[in-house]
Amino acid sequence: MISREKMDACLGRLGMLKRFPAQERVVIQIGKLLNELCASDEEAIAFVSRVLDEHDDWPGPAALRQIHGRVASDRGAATTPIGCDKCKQGYRRVFKVVERGTDRKEIILPEGDAVAIMRQESELQQKYRGSKTHDFYSSGFRFCECPAGKHAEHEYRRATERNEHRV
Ligand SMILES: [Zn+2]
Repeated sequence: MISREKMDACLGRLGMLKRFPAQERVVIQIGKLLNELCASDEEAIAFVSRVLDEHDDWPGPAALRQIHGRVASDRGAATTPIGCDKCKQGYRRVFKVVERGTDRKEIILPEGDAVAIMRQESELQQKYRGSKTHDFYSSGFRFCECPAGKHAEHEYRRATERNEHRV
């Protein structure tokens, strides 16, 4: 619920938009929409700022809903899940043993906490140190199966897509 006072302020700020409806009846409906979209004064203020950042003209109720959806998803992204016991913020260590001169390779997903993973890493390093047939790689990552992993993968894809558009 938005307080009466902040609602007036929000509607006043939206009134700076060109073609903002002048009829009081319509403004009341816009207030209702704001109340429906925003759960608190803080949310309403942030939301109206976003609308004013993106528009000079009154964008209409459908665009308002779209903007609100983006604000909500940005807020979701800001609270990144920290990950499960197998990963760090969704990134899971991957070890790889590659047989030289072939395309045979073994993917190892280390288990356990950070110490256990380090132990597995050093054991494998020792095992393959100086090997003439196998190379050991420990710098790989993959996205975890947990919500943090899904989130990290989503963010990664979004970032790479953005880069592709930039080129
Ligand atoms: Zn995880």
